[in-house]
Amino acid sequence: MNENKLVIAILVGALLGILCGWLFGPTMSKIAWLGNFFLDILKMTIIPLIVAAVISGVTSLGDIRKLGKLGSITLLYYASTTAIAVLVGLIIVNIIQPGSGIEQPSNVVPDIVSEKGGIGFVDIIRSLVSPNIIDAAANTQLLPLIVFCLLFATAMTTIGEKGEHIIRFFDALNDTMMKLVVWVMNAAPIGIFALIAGKIGEAGGGDAIYQELVSVGAYCLTVILGLSVHFLILFGILILLTPHGKHYLLQLSRALMTAFGTASSSATLPLTMECAIEARVDKRSVRFVTPLGATVNMDGTALYEAVAVMFIAQAYNIPLGITEQIVIFITATLAAIGAAGIPQAGLVTMIIVLNAVGLPVEGIGLLLAVDWFLDRFRTTVNVWGDSVGAAVMERFLPDKD
Ligand code: ASP
Repeated sequence: MNENKLVIAILVGALLGILCGWLFGPTMSKIAWLGNFFLDILKMTIIPLIVAAVISGVTSLGDIRKLGKLGSITLLYYASTTAIAVLVGLIIVNIIQPGSGIEQPSNVVPDIVSEKGGIGFVDIIRSLVSPNIIDAAANTQLLPLIVFCLLFATAMTTIGEKGEHIIRFFDALNDTMMKLVVWVMNAAPIGIFALIAGKIGEAGGGDAIYQELVSVGAYCLTVILGLSVHFLILFGILILLTPHGKHYLLQLSRALMTAFGTASSSATLPLTMECAIEARVDKRSVRFVTPLGATVNMDGTALYEAVAVMFIAQAYNIPLGITEQIVIFITATLAAIGAAGIPQAGLVTMIIVLNAVGLPVEGIGLLLAVDWFLDRFRTTVNVWGDSVGAAVMERFLPDKD
């Protein structure tokens, strides 16, 4: 299928998914397996793709100093856009005040939180490496895998001619994996239809969702408004400053719709890379910058965490002054960096932010019912942020030899 037809087919799939899930409710949960089947096919490509992309991306940059410079600029860029996202969230939530007057939350700690109750900054730092890299790959823990590949590729650049065979191998592996991704992409219209219809069906269909959304409607609108501002204004300006311009949004739309359908930036990564390469972003940037982004760059998550924490404070009637909001600003930025690119990861790292300002983690119970829904919007922003990042970083690439 050609590019434009595929975009239309995915859009139709997503809209039909919403419609069928809304109208037919729990019946549609019967086709959820088809969506998960598509998700598994996507996930199947991630590990070899990331290994090949990061290694060939690093080795194509040349010597270690160039890598160090690009790596630092990329991380600084990602951290800055994430911090701006939190700021946007804080400003909007202070203006709208969605939590004022909300019914007092219950005292039950949701399961998703109690299972991970002890998460803190030390856990985030420790998650950078794994004692068993095969185990990390088997559990799709991408961050330690990327760290390993970065170190491995850097070492390879120092062994001279002997390393060239391996470099060629990973380069060919990368091209092969990208070919596979192009094939998989053709299944996206059906996969995304089934994922969305199945999820809405599991959530009880239109009427049930409507009730949930109405009860925390102002909160949902605040999150979606904040995400839209960040998506359109900050990333809009940044992409217009690159040679790719406004067409980039359309070129990336297949990846963005997949992000919405899967709620996972890691699972979407193969499509993000494929779309960015088709949009003629330099391959070196795509291979190096997007895998890093899919694991550490989560602007949507950061914005959402700031809004959610403020919402909980407002609901509990706990006033948070400027000092506490600065703490939220810092911790939400870091917590989002530590969140994995999987569904609802942001909900778990939000515990760090709540703890930092002394808010009860039970408050998460207020947001749980709508989190699967908002997750899709924030994942779309996360993936758009990674894609824009690859385009922006192009100008910092070393000249080709
Ligand atoms: N689902 C998000 C992602 O994969 C992470 C989160 O905010 O929960 O990017």
